[in-house]
Amino acid sequence: MDRGTVHRVVIVGGGFGGLYAARALRREDIAVTIVDSAQHHLFQPLLYQVATGILSEGQIAAPLREVFKGRDVECVLAEVVDVDPAARSVFALRPGGEPMTLPYDDLIVAAGMQQSYFGHDEFAQWAPGMKTIADALEIRRRVFGAFELAETASDPEEQRRWLTFAVVGAGPTGVELAGQIRELATRTLRSEFRRIRPEDARVLLFDGGSAPLASFGKALSAKAAAALQEMGVELHLGTHVTSVDGLGLDVQDKAGATTRYDAGTVLWAAGVEAPPLAAAIAAATGAQRDRAGRIQVNPDLTIPGHPDISVIGDMMSLGGLPGVAEVAMQAGTHAGRRIRHRIENPGAPEVGPFRYHDLGSAAYLSRGNAIVSAGPVHFAGLPGWLAWLFIHLAFLTGYRNRFSAVITWANVFIRDNRHQCTYTTQQIDELRTVYDAPPGKDLPAVGP
Ligand SMILES: Cc1cc2nc3c(=O)[nH]c(=O)nc-3n(C[C@H](O)[C@H](O)[C@H](O)COP(=O)(O)OP(=O)(O)OC[C@H]3O[C@@H](n4cnc5c(N)ncnc54)[C@H](O)[C@@H]3O)c2cc1C
Repeated sequence: MDRGTVHRVVIVGGGFGGLYAARALRREDIAVTIVDSAQHHLFQPLLYQVATGILSEGQIAAPLREVFKGRDVECVLAEVVDVDPAARSVFALRPGGEPMTLPYDDLIVAAGMQQSYFGHDEFAQWAPGMKTIADALEIRRRVFGAFELAETASDPEEQRRWLTFAVVGAGPTGVELAGQIRELATRTLRSEFRRIRPEDARVLLFDGGSAPLASFGKALSAKAAAALQEMGVELHLGTHVTSVDGLGLDVQDKAGATTRYDAGTVLWAAGVEAPPLAAAIAAATGAQRDRAGRIQVNPDLTIPGHPDISVIGDMMSLGGLPGVAEVAMQAGTHAGRRIRHRIENPGAPEVGPFRYHDLGSAAYLSRGNAIVSAGPVHFAGLPGWLAWLFIHLAFLTGYRNRFSAVITWANVFIRDNRHQCTYTTQQIDELRTVYDAPPGKDLPAVGP
């Protein structure tokens, strides 16, 4: 293909939206370029399993080059920082910071969202969120590191602190993380330590609402609450985290009373906001943004006044659609097909507006127990878990990843084995630095 003469489509982001847009654009006379600040397509719904030692990062991510091998899609590793709609160019930074310009005829922005600390970005140092592989590996390091630090702590108070895990946010990510930390403690690690009893680990789950997984409706949410309590997760609902530091967190209840919880590990799964790129695009195009910073799009997913720029997936704001993978995939397909239709049928009427078909959602609670909500159909327990398994295998990228995930899950399910529990000594050093940074605290003598 002569990339100088064909129709150039630049896609920002190789997540669910970008991947499905690129697939829908498969045509000989369309030159597709995917620019992503990561090298891989990531299956975010399984990040918590990387964080808790079940799956490896390679099982839930696939290099974009491998995904598009043999197809005429150019993959560029760079961070897009701005767009010039008049010059039809996006501006990006190569790793290392060198600027580069990518011209386009059509632009599809699918850059997702980032963790939000609701104006308290200082919490991030102590309470990592979970959006990327790096985040999941950081959480794995902190979770497994906490058990190690508890084992060698001579002060019982310090030991109790390391064995206390606080998870903020009782949506699917928080619930899955909290449940998995308890399963890790009560099953996988139970007989691996000599001085501590991992099963004594406390997992506290905080949320401002009145129920976990509230978006699944009252009945399923109640089942989730019961399953969490059975696993030993302590629910603290109707609470608002007011501060986080290296030794724990302060939490305010609805009556305004503040309680301090000592916790060696605090994890954040409470909210998302648009990344700075959304603000740059809005400034360049005049687009409106919603409260979370998402870009408001027309029903055809383009920015008003800019029919050559589509925004899809988590970063788009359209009719209150949720930030879930299915919306991103369907929006990607729609944006790709729309551009393709224009090229194949010059002068013909545009394709109709984007219509989302809700295929339902699922959340994992514990081994053999998940909840599923698909329109009027709601179920839980083993049937829910089997549906969860089927959905995740269907959408995991690549046959190799699907196959190895099945083998791994069978091993975890039958034998309680987790094979991805490793982190390096250098990381232990970093762990100490992270946890012992509060002013006036000396580094404890831990480790070799
Ligand atoms: C922990 C977790 C669990 C989830 N669980 C579920 C679930 O169970 N079910 C469900 O339906 N949804 C779930 N989601 C939501 C789902 O993953 C998202 O809705 C979906 O990934 C959105 O797709 P997207 O293409 O809009 O963005 P993403 O998949 O986030 O992809 C964005 C891509 O853009 C790249 N990027 C970002 N900024 C730039 C930039 N400036 N320049 C270049 N590239 C950039 C990123 O590297 C990334 O590859 C979960 C999300 C998370 C984080």
